Formats: sequence, C-alpha cells, structure tokens
Amino acid sequence: MSREQQAVDRARKAFETGRSKPLEHRVQQLNNLQRLFTEKQKEISDAIKKDLNKSEVGTQLYETLGLEGEISLAIRKLKEWAAPRPVEKNLLTLSDTLYIQPEPLGVVLIIGAWNYPWAVTIQPLIGAIAAGNAAVVKPSEVCVHTAKVMEDLLPLYIDKELYPVVTGGVPETQELLRQRFDHVFYTGNSMVGKVIMEAAAKHLTPVTLELGGKSPCYIDKDCDISIACRRVAWGKYTNCGQTCIAPDYVLCDPGVQDRVIEEVKKSIKEFYTENPKICPDYGRIINQRHFKRIMALLDDSTVAVGGDNDESDCYIAPTVLRDVKPESKVMQEEIFGPLLPILPVSGLDQAIKFINKREKPLALYIFSADDKVIKRMRDETSSGGFLANDCLVHYSISSLPFGGVGNSGMGCYHGKHSFDQLSHLRGCLIKKLNMEGVNSMRYPPHTAKKLGWARFFILKTVDLGWLGRMALLAVLAVVAAAVLQRYLQ
Ligand code: NAD
Repeated sequence: MSREQQAVDRARKAFETGRSKPLEHRVQQLNNLQRLFTEKQKEISDAIKKDLNKSEVGTQLYETLGLEGEISLAIRKLKEWAAPRPVEKNLLTLSDTLYIQPEPLGVVLIIGAWNYPWAVTIQPLIGAIAAGNAAVVKPSEVCVHTAKVMEDLLPLYIDKELYPVVTGGVPETQELLRQRFDHVFYTGNSMVGKVIMEAAAKHLTPVTLELGGKSPCYIDKDCDISIACRRVAWGKYTNCGQTCIAPDYVLCDPGVQDRVIEEVKKSIKEFYTENPKICPDYGRIINQRHFKRIMALLDDSTVAVGGDNDESDCYIAPTVLRDVKPESKVMQEEIFGPLLPILPVSGLDQAIKFINKREKPLALYIFSADDKVIKRMRDETSSGGFLANDCLVHYSISSLPFGGVGNSGMGCYHGKHSFDQLSHLRGCLIKKLNMEGVNSMRYPPHTAKKLGWARFFILKTVDLGWLGRMALLAVLAVVAAAVLQRYLQ
C-alpha cells in the first residue's frame, strides 16, 4: 500500500470513529491551529523567506494574519453555522418541522499552490475542520521549504490521523487522486484543474477549483489616476506579481497611458525604492523555470519601466509595458510575475468588449469616479469577484465568497462560505404520524377533485405578514384536513 493510500485510509478510519464531528472537538482543533501561528511564526517566515523572499512582516500581513482571523471567526460562529437552519413552509408542511442540517462530507483532499502556500492550503483546512471533516493536506512541492515546515508542524498541533500532511510532487498527487475522497479542494492553474476534475469524476467526487487567469483592470480617464495607479501597483507587485488575483493587465484610454506609466513608476519607487533588488519588501520569482517563462513573455513588448533582471537570483524588477497588442505573448497566458502590460482602448465600451471576448477572470478591477461606469462594467461582464477602486482586498473579507467562475474556477470559500462548501446541506423534513387527511389528495385513485385541492395547497400564496400568515395557515390546515378527511376517503 502506498504512503498516500495509507494516509487516506487512516484519515477515513479516524473519520469513521466520529471524533471529528462534535463541535467541541472542532473548536479544540481550531484553537490548536491558532496556537501554531502564534508559536511558530519564526519557522513559518524563515521558510517563506527562502522560498519567495517574503519579509517576516510581509508573511504575517499576507499569509498568517488572514488565517488567524478566519480561525477566530470559525470558533466564534461555529455553533451558529452548524445549527439546523429553519426554512419556509407551505400549506402542506405547516405542522411539520423543516430545516437544513449541515453535515460533514467525510474525507476532503486539499491540494495547495505555492504562491501563498500557507494561506491557500490552510484556509480550506479551517473550513474542513469547522465542518467536521477529515482532511488530507497536500502542500505544493514548489515551495520546498514551506512544504517541509508544514509537514513537520501541523502534526504537532492538530490530530495527525484526521488531518495528515502528504508531501510530494505530481506522482504523489496523482496517487492521492486515485483514492476515493468525499471532496477535492484544489488551488492552482486551470490546466491541472482539468486533471483534478477528471480524476475526481471517476469517484463522482465533487470539487472546488480555485484557479487563476488574466484579471483585467480598467482605469477610467476621469478618475484620480494617481491613487488608482498606487493601488494597481500594490496589487501587481505584491509577492512579485505571483498573486492569483493580481491585476494582470491595464486597459485605459490612449490619452492617459503616459500618466498611468508615470504614476505606476512613482509608486514602484515609493514602495520598493530606486533599487527594488535590495528592498526587503520586494519578492523573488519562485524558481528558474518560472523566471524563464516570465522573461520570454517580454519578447515582443516595449518596456516603459523596469525590465532589469537577474536569473541567478530569480529577480525581475517591477516592470511596465506600453502600447501592448492583444496578440503579444504577454497577453496569451496569465503572467503571474511583475509585468504590467498597458493596452490602450477607446473607452468603456471597448474595454467591456475586450474583457468579454476572453475567459471569465478570477477578479475584475475598475477605477472610476463615476458610479454609472462602475455599474455598467459590473452588469455587462462576469468574473469571480468584482472590485471598484481597489485591488486584492476582497480576498480578506470573510463575508464575501471567494472563488472563480468558468475558466477561473468553481465553488467558493472564506468564512461561512468555506463551512458551507465543505458541508453537505441536508434537507430535513420531520413529520408526525397524524394529519393523514391532508395526504389523501396524493393517494390513488387520482381524481379531478383531489387535483383541485393539490393545486390549492401547492400554489396558494398569501402575504399577511408573518403572524397573520401563520394564523391563517393554521386555520386553513385544520379546515383542509377536516374537509379532506371527510370528502376524499
Ligand atoms: P503548483 O505548481 O504548486 O500546483 C498546484 C498543486 O497541483 C500542487 O500541489 C501540485 O503538486 C499539483 N499538481 C501540479 N501538476 C499536477 C498534475 N499534473 N497532476 C496532479 N497534480 C498536480 O501551482 P500552480 O498551478 O503553478 O499555481 C499557480 C496558479 O494557481 C495560478 O494560475 C494562480 O492564479 C492559481 N492560484 C489560484 C488561487 C485561487 O485562490 N483561486 C490561489 C493561488 C494560486
């Protein structure tokens, strides 16, 4: 039996003991996880420094702070999330109990990506624990040091049978995917997303796919260009552009292109100094393979800012490209690096057309002072998330569902959305054995009279406010039961 198979088997057996289900157990595990982030911050940031050259403060800001927030939210709200959720009744179910009962799915496979290795791997785990599941955690092998630290640390804090960490690359992930899971939660690129979905389909296992793509950013000529560019520069160059929701490219009026370039340049200097290479807040490309891929994207474009690079250090300076053509290399795939192409468009109409001709993105950004422009962009396009006048921050808001649509993914998470995503929302109807008269209309022999009653009960809607409605329904139900009992027997 392979190591992967053993881990899944153990997790399944542990799940079957039922110990992941009591709310006290879930809260205890979440508290333990919280402790990991307070006690092992140094180990975590040292490893991320080696993987992506993130600073210690940067690691807390972009990786662990959000996780700590999600954990404490889950602890605070768990009772409410896990409680039965009463639903509306109709005339026929008036005396029944009707509710949605969230229940654990079973064993979840979580496959993480390397760019925010803790955030994208542990955030789904928080949801899995909160929802009462077991979970096999597969961190990305690309962030070598972090994967090791995760493998070493998680078992010290949380139940290692229920939540094992399995490390490894493509063969190990594929071996995991041959096993039967109750849900697969994958974060990574769209091509591998298809492989994951195909493997899951063999067991009819549902998937959440948190993918990427080219997230557009439209800058309206009538907005405060300076503030817009500052926010775009932050969104683009954070983590060296290796952010799934980084603004991939900018669309703007040709008349403002020069100002956009100037303002982005100013912000680069403000954030990362004249020499980003020695700035502690500027990251590195994850490895040489990605370095080469990103540099090749520059081939047929004009560099307006930056462009310096050093392969031995995986360094690419924050770069802006001007007058980029839709056919150029940099526009053919998600950049996932610190290059910001600017594509001149004649205005909002052309920007909307441009966006709609391409795959649905994970995020769509618009900068404008005009609410009507913002509303048109929202109503006439589709994307995982939509942000006006800022970048990235929707990721940090637990009440907003985070996820893609179409090519950028399926399913969503964060906060209660994670809990729901990794629960089965079971519809429950609890009847009493009395009131059999009401049921007469459904039993053969079927007659026109019974159909008439069925139409009345099923289609009748009344709106008298809550109290009035309940009173009327109660009276109707009693009368109906009596009438049906008498005439339909
Ligand atoms: P990656 O190379 O780390 O791959 C992700 C995971 O898939 C890894 O655990 C890896 O082991 C596994 N994997 C890779 N190839 C596989 C294969 N052939 N079969 C089975 N498993 C395989 O990460 P990546 O894909 O380079 O990540 C970057 C992408 O992820 C970008 O497109 C980015 O936009 C996206 N992303 C999305 C989100 C989100 O929340 N939507 C977050 C981060 C990254």
